[in-house]
Amino acid sequence: MEIQVSNFIRSIVAEDVAAGKNNGKVITRFPPEPNGYLHIGHAKSICLNFGLAQEFNGHCNLRFDDTNPSKEEQEYVDSIMEDVRWLGFEWGDRLYYASDYFEQLYEWAVQLIKKGKAYVCDLSFEEMRQYRGTLTEAGKESPYRSRSVEENLDLFERMRKGEFPDGSKTLRAKIDMNSGNINMRDPVMYRIKHEDHHRTGNKWCIYPMYDYAHGQSDSIEGVTHSICTMEYEDHRPLYDWYLDELGIHHPQQIEFARLNLSHTVVSKRKLLRLVNEGYVKGWNDPRMPTLAGIRRRGYTPEAIRNFCERIGVGKKESLVDMALLEFCVREHLNKTAPRVMAVLRPLKVVITNYPEDQEEYLDAINNPEDPNAGTRKVPFSKILYIEQEDFMENPPKQFFRLAPGREVRLRYAYFIKCENVVKDDKGNIIEIHCTYDPATRGGDAPDGRKVKATLHWVSAKHAVDAEARLYDTLFTKEEPDNIEEGKDFTDYINPKSLEVLTGCKLEPSLKDAKSGDRFQFERLGYFCVDTVDSTPGKPVFNRTVTLKDEWAKIQKGKK
Ligand code: ATP
Ligand code: MG
Repeated sequence: MEIQVSNFIRSIVAEDVAAGKNNGKVITRFPPEPNGYLHIGHAKSICLNFGLAQEFNGHCNLRFDDTNPSKEEQEYVDSIMEDVRWLGFEWGDRLYYASDYFEQLYEWAVQLIKKGKAYVCDLSFEEMRQYRGTLTEAGKESPYRSRSVEENLDLFERMRKGEFPDGSKTLRAKIDMNSGNINMRDPVMYRIKHEDHHRTGNKWCIYPMYDYAHGQSDSIEGVTHSICTMEYEDHRPLYDWYLDELGIHHPQQIEFARLNLSHTVVSKRKLLRLVNEGYVKGWNDPRMPTLAGIRRRGYTPEAIRNFCERIGVGKKESLVDMALLEFCVREHLNKTAPRVMAVLRPLKVVITNYPEDQEEYLDAINNPEDPNAGTRKVPFSKILYIEQEDFMENPPKQFFRLAPGREVRLRYAYFIKCENVVKDDKGNIIEIHCTYDPATRGGDAPDGRKVKATLHWVSAKHAVDAEARLYDTLFTKEEPDNIEEGKDFTDYINPKSLEVLTGCKLEPSLKDAKSGDRFQFERLGYFCVDTVDSTPGKPVFNRTVTLKDEWAKIQKGKK
């Protein structure tokens, strides 16, 4: 059951629908620029936009705001579509591209020139920056601002025809160089870029700026509620100006605070650097906060949607603790992931009083949280593996697991007692010898005697060999965006974010585990079969999340 809390945007939309605004219709959109993979922050925007459309029987468009050919690629378009679908949302036939509107946007630019509201400017980008002024200082008008409509029309057409080199001219809106809002100081509408576009090829050599294309694209699509992050609040007057000057449909823009997550970064520019500079192995590295990364890590769409509901939607920026996201993942996997036994760091155990060639199959419960999950058979034999850390030769007081002379329970199997420790020449423990009590089959003693620990184990001759990858946060700093002087955000990368364990031993039911399957390894955490590096018979498992509930600890600490 996914929780649902209200938020201020939901309230605005509900009121609009009740009041019959836009004939009661709700049209939203998710408008990514295809210049990188989607991350967890985008998930918040996707859940909000698609969620509202679903709730109010409306539509949500997927629109690629592809106005900058230098940074955009088909690979990103494809990954974005895959990720939105994976999250559980569908745009149907409502797939759009800002580049489909290039001709219309050009015509509108001509219209603004004819109205005397736009002009061709010859200032370089550097000069323009100087003319723009600052927050405290008014801007200066461009010497080209007073060009005649005829000259502007002629120059703009020749810009389109490719007569001028990159950077030599721009088309600018004629608004107000004294405006307190810098976005209104004659912003650039078009720049020259002799570059191929991933969709329009070499058809264009002038490209609209994001700010000139975005609002009109929403307008063309009849978007009713144009929901975006707070940084666009200062751009709203400019979007309004374009829509008003052109006299076209006016979507209602509503801003909300972006999601920031602790111990990671959610900026495509920074994520691209992590990929390009080799800090991670690609956009889908399981340590990345990208949807491709967390999917590979084993996070579920249900958990992410639930997380987005829980964090809510507000106007104030905050840092959400990664532990909350992990809590949501754990909560979902607890109900859905079958439990199995796997030994990550094996220690050999010989059951000395168990017959040499005997083997037997014991009943194990697949998921106590799911009554329909049933049971399975787990083989037991003379030689087993347990976890190295479950045995101590000289245990301190608080250690209740296996130790010389001590008895523990092997889950679903028997009580065993450690009789002897075998070491190599250097004194390292190589195996331990135990006896078992046949009367404790299934895990309980008929005489009622108790043990203090239950260990997971795997039968050696039946075991499946595997590799396990354990992840820690990608950054050691809670807020890697909050950079100290002279530092770069990459200085805070956690050198121990990945630990690779080879030689893990899994119970044989995992032989048939398929790419992407998720499990709880009893006592260890949730793991999933890696979709990239697993090979038949040699699975690689990603640790999705540990069993430890850091979030509950944080909440308790706050009380
Ligand atoms: P980045 O800062 O990572 O480059 P962006 O905002 O430039 O992200 P877009 O492709 O333009 O990326 O984003 C598409 C939509 O997702 C926009 O509406 C944007 O507001 C929203 N979005 C981006 N990042 C976040 C975030 N951290 N939290 C919530 N929404 C976000
Ligand atoms: Mg953006």
